[in-house]
Amino acid sequence: MSRRPVAQINLAALRHNLQRVQHLAPASKILAVLKANAYGHGLVQVAQALTGADAFAVARIDEALALRTAGIVKPIVLLEGFYEAAELPILLANNLQTIVHNELQLQALEQTELEGQLKVWLKIDTGMHRLGIAPQQFNEFYRRLWQCPTVQPGIRLMSHFCCADMPGSAKTGQQLAQFQQLCADKAEQRSLANSAAIICLPQSHGDWVRPGLMLHGISPLPDQQGQHHQLQPVMRLSSRLIAMRKIQPGDTVGYGANWQTEKATWVGVIAIGYGDGYPRHAVNGTPVWLAGREVQLIGRVSMDMITVNLGPEPMESIGAEAVLWGPELAIERVAHCADTIPYELLCNITPRVDYQYLTV
Ligand SMILES: *Cc1c(COP(=O)(O)O)cnc(C)c1O
Repeated sequence: MSRRPVAQINLAALRHNLQRVQHLAPASKILAVLKANAYGHGLVQVAQALTGADAFAVARIDEALALRTAGIVKPIVLLEGFYEAAELPILLANNLQTIVHNELQLQALEQTELEGQLKVWLKIDTGMHRLGIAPQQFNEFYRRLWQCPTVQPGIRLMSHFCCADMPGSAKTGQQLAQFQQLCADKAEQRSLANSAAIICLPQSHGDWVRPGLMLHGISPLPDQQGQHHQLQPVMRLSSRLIAMRKIQPGDTVGYGANWQTEKATWVGVIAIGYGDGYPRHAVNGTPVWLAGREVQLIGRVSMDMITVNLGPEPMESIGAEAVLWGPELAIERVAHCADTIPYELLCNITPRVDYQYLTV
């Protein structure tokens, strides 16, 4: 019996979810987004399993180099681009594609001599106001990139939605219209859609879709779960029941004594806490799957443990398996109870958790 919490990663489910993307966006190539350790699932293992993706995207150069070191040969796109000219030879040597989102990057490409040409994606800010050039700068950037000897002919054009997970949002319509208008007379390949837009906005799919969250089986839309989109959860986070005790009416549980019982009941202690990445802000009542039934979190989350209400006559015994999220319990529900989003829960898993990769 493992004494550590375990994150089982179901690579067959991951591949199933990739097929769902292909089904939803049949005319598009897939740029699978694997930033932040593939959303906490394990960068290299996820990349190795996604043989059907056309290319991978990461945020930073170290993530891309880790993939190359592991022998991944598919194209890799840096979503934040490079930060200084000195990185350009590294990009070239490792066949990394870069996003260009500002003037400094453009100047570096113009002023650096390279023994080859880089593949470049031009990012346009259509309303997110995070990365990207302003629409008024588009024609100038486009022309200068085309003239730049260090840039491969055939730049790609992209933008990013800020409200794709709010179906019917006027903002999304404005962003799409602006992007389409800017690119109207250009033959270059285009990319706009994250998971939410892949599901909700087929007219945004373009040449390349950029799924991240949905590959891991999770709904990008609030109040929905992966199963509503025929996605399968990839991660199953589990641990064990390590103690049980009976408490009496009026007794409290945990730090701050913030949960008190009215009736005699049994408290179960499960070996997982915020030191493993379980969210400390999960409220009383957050669901936990324990040996075949759902129980509720009671008391504050500790560093190494949580406490659950087992009721007056528990059937479980010490050693029973608890699932914090996975096929038995949607991570979307746990995120909701912790006032956060599944993305953050996944990224917060710490190295104390054991990873096991299942291929079938
Ligand atoms: C993270 C990211 C994505 C993927 O978003 P999901 O909501 O996880 O599908 C796509 N494009 C860009 C630019 C990103 O940063």
